[in-house]
Amino acid sequence: MKRLINALLIILANAFAYSASAQKDTLDVVIVGGGFSGLTSAYYLNHLDILVLEKEKEAGGRCLTGEWNGFHYPKGTEYMGKPEGLQKKLFRDLDVKAKEIPGPADGIAINNRIYYGDRLLDFLSEQELKDYDRLREELSKLNDLGVEDHIFYDEMTTEDLPLRLDAFTVSHWLQSGQYPDVLTNYVNVENRGLFGTDNSSHSMYFDIPEMAYDLPLPGDKRSEVYSFDNGMYSIIEGFANKLGDRLQTGMSVKSVKVLNNGLSEVRYVSEDGEHYSALAKAVIMSTPSQITAELVDGHFSQHVKSSLRQIDYSQYVTINFFLKERYLKDAWSIACLEEGDVVTFYDVIRPQVDNDYNGPSILSVYMAPKHAKDTTFIGLSDENLLNKAKNSLEKYFSGINKSIAGHDITRFKYAFPVFSPMYGKRLDILKNDATTFGPLFLAGDYMVYATVDGAMISGQRAAKRTLEYLKP
Ligand SMILES: Cc1cc2nc3c(=O)[nH]c(=O)nc-3n(C[C@H](O)[C@H](O)[C@H](O)COP(=O)(O)OP(=O)(O)OC[C@H]3O[C@@H](n4cnc5c(N)ncnc54)[C@H](O)[C@@H]3O)c2cc1C
Repeated sequence: MKRLINALLIILANAFAYSASAQKDTLDVVIVGGGFSGLTSAYYLNHLDILVLEKEKEAGGRCLTGEWNGFHYPKGTEYMGKPEGLQKKLFRDLDVKAKEIPGPADGIAINNRIYYGDRLLDFLSEQELKDYDRLREELSKLNDLGVEDHIFYDEMTTEDLPLRLDAFTVSHWLQSGQYPDVLTNYVNVENRGLFGTDNSSHSMYFDIPEMAYDLPLPGDKRSEVYSFDNGMYSIIEGFANKLGDRLQTGMSVKSVKVLNNGLSEVRYVSEDGEHYSALAKAVIMSTPSQITAELVDGHFSQHVKSSLRQIDYSQYVTINFFLKERYLKDAWSIACLEEGDVVTFYDVIRPQVDNDYNGPSILSVYMAPKHAKDTTFIGLSDENLLNKAKNSLEKYFSGINKSIAGHDITRFKYAFPVFSPMYGKRLDILKNDATTFGPLFLAGDYMVYATVDGAMISGQRAAKRTLEYLKP
């Protein structure tokens, strides 16, 4: 009885708190989440009456950047694919210029030594090189069937594609091809570095585009990887300038509910505890899937709700070390093949300085759990994480610890949606269930692919669907 009374009191207090707050006029669209998917949706809907609500002090989500000594550094995302189609036009409009940088893993750290240059190929034996070529050929054949286009642009029918590979993990596939340990380990570290997921939890189908890219041909110097003068900050700034006060940060959305009259009510709280509610004709949910499932009250079918909840997220930690001098400049990103939590080192100031620059710099250490289900990893103490990162760095850059002037640790609870086997089936539900056609729409990298490109495409698609829904 006491519990019931308490629950009633909380409901009454909430109702009072929100009704006492400023009630805005009806908006066309509210966008929940100011990551790249939400910001892209907002960009395409900016001619309407819109509001973007972002929980953190700054927009950008997993593309958030920091600033030290005049340098911008990534807390999460460092680069993106070659801007084409929608991105090319969008960046022109935002007045940001993409610049090509070296491909990822242009160095390999193993056994206390760094191999620069042709990445993995330099230290493979003759037999391993043959296996490498076989693996490359297999992946190219699969990718040539149009897997990437299918995942990103839905361009082909599923009958033409090796979708059956969605039932297999990367481990299964590599085992059945009897590939040597060194290649299996390399793919594992790449997957942990790029998706926070090990081979045994990643769908083979969803790994094809990334694996086909990551395994270079000998002498292949292509990069197809881009960043900006001030890293991802350049784009976030561009979006923020376009949106003005339609982008509100420090606003945490608490619930989204479709009312009987078809409008949606979004309740949110500012950092200083002010309660607000907004009414909108449509809402785009561009938060990670599990958060979306929690925020939306009713509306979505049970299938949609459970698909959103079933998407696991891998966890991830990045540490930016502020250094008195530059230690890493012969490579942009080093895949760390040693056993442990460190997966990549980045010379993150690379797009901002000349190659021979030797002054103060920032080196990032990216750390991932050994498998996607490990949810304790990001809870490790700062001291523990710093020790792991510093020990690993010292092996490869002797004396570096004396040069550390400071650090910035970032923990990602929702780092990457885990593309576990049969992910394609979950996406079918999220894209095609009647309840995802309005007034609530889904955006986020989990709807396409766990990259900036995937997030932006998802944001554009959600905007397009929203416009169709709002047509008189
Ligand atoms: C460490 C790391 C490195 C990465 N590196 C790369 C890379 O180099 N290249 C690449 O292409 N991709 C990379 N990615 C992936 C890329 O960052 C993501 O795919 C992309 O940024 C996802 O964008 P999003 O909009 O879907 O989600 P998010 O960026 O997570 O945006 C969701 C937003 O919703 C906000 N939010 C959450 N709850 C609420 C609430 N209740 N109310 C209001 N707002 C809320 C969050 O604060 C966040 O800003 C990396 C990811 C990580 C974690």
